[in-house]
Amino acid sequence: MDVLINISQNKTKISIMNRVFILTLLFLCKLSHADTPLILLSIDGFSNQYLSKYKPKNILSLASNGVLADALKPVFPSKTFPNHLSIITGRYPAEHGIVHNKFYHRELNKKYYLGGAADNSLWLTAKPIWALAEQNNITTAIYFWPESHADVDGISATYNMPYIHETPNKQRFDKILKWLALPLNQRPKFIMGYFSTIDSAGHSYGPNSLQVETAINEFDLLLGEFLDKIKQPINIILVSDHGMTAINNNKIKWQEYITENENLVVSNGETQLYLYAKDINALNDVRSQLSKIPKNENKFKFYEKGNFPNHWQFVKNSPAMPDIVLNAIPPYTFDDQEKYRKKATHGYDPKLTQDLDAIFIANGPAFKKGLQVKSFENIHIFPLLEKILNISNEHTIDGRLSVLLPILK
Ligand code: AMP
Ligand code: ZN
Ligand code: ZN
Repeated sequence: MDVLINISQNKTKISIMNRVFILTLLFLCKLSHADTPLILLSIDGFSNQYLSKYKPKNILSLASNGVLADALKPVFPSKTFPNHLSIITGRYPAEHGIVHNKFYHRELNKKYYLGGAADNSLWLTAKPIWALAEQNNITTAIYFWPESHADVDGISATYNMPYIHETPNKQRFDKILKWLALPLNQRPKFIMGYFSTIDSAGHSYGPNSLQVETAINEFDLLLGEFLDKIKQPINIILVSDHGMTAINNNKIKWQEYITENENLVVSNGETQLYLYAKDINALNDVRSQLSKIPKNENKFKFYEKGNFPNHWQFVKNSPAMPDIVLNAIPPYTFDDQEKYRKKATHGYDPKLTQDLDAIFIANGPAFKKGLQVKSFENIHIFPLLEKILNISNEHTIDGRLSVLLPILK
């Protein structure tokens, strides 16, 4: 009898221990899942076509073991700053304020310069994910991202690097590894990084050059080494801002049609001219200048505020919104009288050529494996980041979670 009682007591003990063990395991799993760092990396100017053309081994392996989009669609204009800000705010450029790499602000009476929002919060009119994350007590680290030093209600990323274009890619990856190896209470849970060598090679030598191939191979090798060195589960999203398209040197001599003067600000963004008229008289003057353009001149089209193409989403009448946009048609660009000759560029309306398509790849425990999804616009990435970071945002955005929710496990 005693023996029987002992056995059943032992059984009860074992089953209680089992339960405690299982609960602890579940708790740890949940904890470790919640602690899985999210890494968002941007490869500037990495065209979607480079995936099939150059077949970068490590990038493709991330894609095949995770999620790959047919293409990531850039917002208009397909320049670096508007697109990087759309990715991290979920808003179209008219709403986040960075409507081009080069534009004018009527209230500030100033032309924008890259990184300008660090000095004046008026340039940036939407909240980036890093600021939202920090507000939600998520430690954030950024190894370069356009406007990552912006003045957003006095919030800054916990770890941030001053932008130095020449910083070798290896140095960037090594620092991210160091951040990931920090003790848990200092370790960033959200990391962003930016790499520009492939964009630079694309501009200087063209998308079909040996130099682009070399730059892609260098990045891919470093990415592979980086991933090998990470000793913990991570969720990683690899994106680019836009692709790259070859241009010729037949520049649009816009000065033949338009004269900048004290009543008309002209911002030459290479693939667009943004015109800002001081008043109705100045606007009428430009209209009459533009009406003199020969009809066979099909190197660009021009549009007036109120009649911009719908997909530009240039609807908000903000101080940065131009009155008229002259939109270059590839391969033409607006003459800037610079001696430096590029072989390729981006900035054009992304609808005009697939060369400008960007990439989206996601990999890690949060994502499904071996899934290919249809093309989508980069504004939809922001709600995905919010979801993975388990934060919510009460203000309106343009991106919709429903677009990328199906890629999550
Ligand atoms: P584009 O590729 O023509 O749109 O221009 C990109 C430019 O942005 C490159 O010259 C980069 O050096 C520059 N750039 C990228 N990130 C930053 C940053 N965080 N701060 C300042 N300039 C940047
Ligand atoms: Zn770019
Ligand atoms: Zn570029």
